[in-house]
Amino acid sequence: MILDPRLAKAAIVVACIAMVAIRAPHGQRSRTAKVATSRKGRLETALLTIVWLSFFVPMVWVWKPVFAFADYPLRVEAFAAGIICLAAGLWLLYRSHADLGTNWSVTLELRQEHRLVSGGVYRAIRHPMYSALALYAAGQALVIPNWVAGFSNVIALAVLLALRLGAEEKMMAQQFGDEYAAYSARTKRFAPGVW
Ligand code: SAH
Repeated sequence: MILDPRLAKAAIVVACIAMVAIRAPHGQRSRTAKVATSRKGRLETALLTIVWLSFFVPMVWVWKPVFAFADYPLRVEAFAAGIICLAAGLWLLYRSHADLGTNWSVTLELRQEHRLVSGGVYRAIRHPMYSALALYAAGQALVIPNWVAGFSNVIALAVLLALRLGAEEKMMAQQFGDEYAAYSARTKRFAPGVW
């Protein structure tokens, strides 16, 4: 069965509002916890810009027909699977923010009095927030029946993770030494027990 693309547009707007609502309080709160070490170089700035743009592209698709050349029919199976991914991603984003608290930064930074979080959704995996963003990106790709708007976030996130993850784990290992080594040894990166 083929669905009306307006359904996808409504779902993407709601998901985007939920994402902003989950993040906003943490963005504000994190400004109160002073930064002790920042590894925000030119590469990080470029990566953050790419990710921000990739969130913007689906919104352009919702309101302007500029990507109409890349539209395809919206199948009900893809839409349903996408909604599940979006909901799961938003839930995991909410939980990982709650567990990280003021240790969270949008970029590579360590706070004064930074603690290594290893409980909650951090118990089995080291990067639940990146898993959440990956689920969200997969959800967008499934829900949006357009090659450009659907995959912009998948590509941006893949670039971010490929170029940031090593530096983040190195920063954490330098800061937390044996504690991080032990934590890494008993956890996976993105999927509990798997990867
Ligand atoms: N990679 C993590 C966190 C993303 S936010 C995840 O996907 O869930 C990025 C910031 O979180 C980093 O700059 C680092 O300061 C902090 N961080 C990452 N893992 C952490 C952990 N286990 N405990 C505390 N802070 C952590």
